[in-house]
Amino acid sequence: MNAISKPSLGAYNIIDHTYDVVVVGAGGAGLRATLGMGAAGLKTACVTKVFPTRSHTVAAQGGIGAALGNMGEDDWRWHMYDTVKGSDWLGDQDAIEYMCRNAIPAIHELEHFGVPFSRTEDGRIYQRPFGGHMQDYGKRPAMRACAAADRTGHAILHTLYQQSLKHEVEFFVEYFALDLIMDEDGSCRGVMAWNLDDGTIHRFRAQTVVLATGGYGRAYQSCTSAHTCTGDGNGMVIRAGLPMQDMEFVQFHPTGIFGAGCLITEGARGEGGYLTNAAGERFMERYAPTAKDLASRDVVSRSMTIEINEGRGVGPNKDHILLHLEHLGGELLHQRLPGISETAKVFAGVDVTKEPIPVLPTVHYNMGGIPTNYHGEVLSPTPEDPDRIVRGLMAVGECASVSVHGANRLGTNSLLDLVVFGRAAAHRAAETIQPGATQAPLPAGAGEASLDRFDTTRNAKGGTRVADLRADLQRSMQSHAAVFRNSESLTLGVEKIQKVWKGMDDMSVSDRSLIWNSDLVEALELHNLMGAAMTTMVGAEARTESRGAQAHDDFPDRDDVNWMKHTLAWCDAKGDVALGYRPVKMQTLTNEVSVFPPQKRVY
Ligand SMILES: Cc1cc2nc3c(=O)[nH]c(=O)nc-3n(C[C@H](O)[C@H](O)[C@H](O)COP(=O)(O)OP(=O)(O)OC[C@H]3O[C@@H](n4cnc5c(N)ncnc54)[C@H](O)[C@@H]3O)c2cc1C
Repeated sequence: MNAISKPSLGAYNIIDHTYDVVVVGAGGAGLRATLGMGAAGLKTACVTKVFPTRSHTVAAQGGIGAALGNMGEDDWRWHMYDTVKGSDWLGDQDAIEYMCRNAIPAIHELEHFGVPFSRTEDGRIYQRPFGGHMQDYGKRPAMRACAAADRTGHAILHTLYQQSLKHEVEFFVEYFALDLIMDEDGSCRGVMAWNLDDGTIHRFRAQTVVLATGGYGRAYQSCTSAHTCTGDGNGMVIRAGLPMQDMEFVQFHPTGIFGAGCLITEGARGEGGYLTNAAGERFMERYAPTAKDLASRDVVSRSMTIEINEGRGVGPNKDHILLHLEHLGGELLHQRLPGISETAKVFAGVDVTKEPIPVLPTVHYNMGGIPTNYHGEVLSPTPEDPDRIVRGLMAVGECASVSVHGANRLGTNSLLDLVVFGRAAAHRAAETIQPGATQAPLPAGAGEASLDRFDTTRNAKGGTRVADLRADLQRSMQSHAAVFRNSESLTLGVEKIQKVWKGMDDMSVSDRSLIWNSDLVEALELHNLMGAAMTTMVGAEARTESRGAQAHDDFPDRDDVNWMKHTLAWCDAKGDVALGYRPVKMQTLTNEVSVFPPQKRVY
């Protein structure tokens, strides 16, 4: 079948495929979904732009949260409370209950899959403290982060890939997914992809497409995410006319290495590390008397920024903070934090057994994304039906907003989100999809608009390089959608991103080839980043309150009366954004736990 009618596009070699399920992305979320779909007997393809074990999940360091109670009393209800509080009451409590309860079986499942967790003396999974995770509803730090030294993501990703290979799933590696194929009735029918290696175009028809494309950290100048984190799934959903949710909430991790941006895990503070300012003061004691250096990330990042803004930063330019690990001793560092010891040596020239590491808050995670319910089904809310489902489309992992993280994610809850909701999506698909069911033909001209965009981008002959447009975008995001925001700066930020958007009309792509054309890949990635960035900036400008990662100087308080609601943002082809809102789920799944009503958030 070659249903492309435009003669100019006829030159492309299009290959058609039919599957029950196509998963786009092979990070932790994509692989957990893929293996679950395969195990359920569904004919499954996994399409990924990088080799599975190179996905950003491989870089996750500190741990994955679950109230196992291996190293002190714990309870999934405490984990749930911490997550609701961490989200600054913007998380959906039904989904949070689902995640925290299912964390325990999900970790045991990973253990049985073969994840080489670090061990306690008596052979159980080792757990360390992490920011915002507390015992007994916020009383004292809990030991909840299950860790494989400081290479937890590496251990999990490799294990999930091995497990996926056990099932009859097919991997399409180094295929770049371009766009969703949508039907007139609003359902998703498949996805278009470009094989980077031989230049062929692939049209996948499926009963369900699962997006698991990760975050969009690369919209910023300084971030901990891989170069591949360009919000491609977000871009595809935006182009399909569907909304993003809560994009204004971008997490800054307190301890990116100053200058390089590489991450030093919060697990370093979990093991006893602490921060100091220029006076050598452990300033977190002033901002968070109970949790101190283990307060949640938004709180620590803001405290560090205040220290620097008030002239107490370290170094000749008083522009960073110090993280001390030297008192922990060489043996512990070697055993529990070997990866970051090496990172600090390479990127900061620091021997962590002797000197502190210079650090600065750095973009780390996107709380916002494609709205879904806790089964992983994508939502296209209307005022009458805020839970309306898009048939044939799911999203899991960092590209999704379930929303378990609300306005601020707790450390260890992302790896958990990947495996819990990757698994949930597979369960849902097993219930709703009949293996091998006959699929209707694709709509006439399916994929044509996508191929048209691809062809136009490939032949772009303007005067501005992709790298220059991207640098403009990244600078604007870094300065205007920052740790602290204000109305004036956000308004200017929106104008700047609009200018970059217009600048895309003058884009130049110099390489016209179809094989390993990294220039074209970067142009397509920029297009995806732009949609994510635009909805982030516009959502932030509109939200006149401070909540979680949105710290608004002109509106320093949380405003539950007007703003305890999810932002929805639709972005059209011209970059114009329409906003809408959706209520937060203040209900639980079972009556084993009651809703946690909003409180003031102190640590
Ligand atoms: C340095 C670092 C350390 C972290 N440490 C922790 C931690 O200790 N604990 C924790 O809970 N969280 C941690 N996080 C967060 C967590 O690791 C991420 O949120 C999570 O791994 C994202 O997983 P994912 O499966 O959603 O996406 P990713 O792992 O980013 O994978 C995305 C996949 O999508 C594919 N893809 C993307 N676009 C396309 C396209 N156009 N076509 C085809 N394929 C595509 C990619 O090839 C890739 O396979 C850390 C994050 C970073 C950056």
